[in-house]
Amino acid sequence: MKIRVDPDKCQGHARCYDLARELFDVDDYGQSSVIVDQVPAELEDNARLAIANCPEYAIEIISE
Ligand code: SF4
Repeated sequence: MKIRVDPDKCQGHARCYDLARELFDVDDYGQSSVIVDQVPAELEDNARLAIANCPEYAIEIISE
């Protein structure tokens, strides 16, 4: 699985970061980014949780 954060949608709530620190980082401006190229299989549930909890629908699955 590959995921990305749409920088135009992200509003910096950092929920993704709180839910899955292994997958996301947030910069000083609150912009989130994905820090892994490929989501490890054991973290796919965390990725889906972050996707479901992003209020801006900013996290996208690029490939399953
Ligand atoms: S939860 Fe969504 S809007 Fe908030 S920092 Fe993460 S990607 Fe951005």
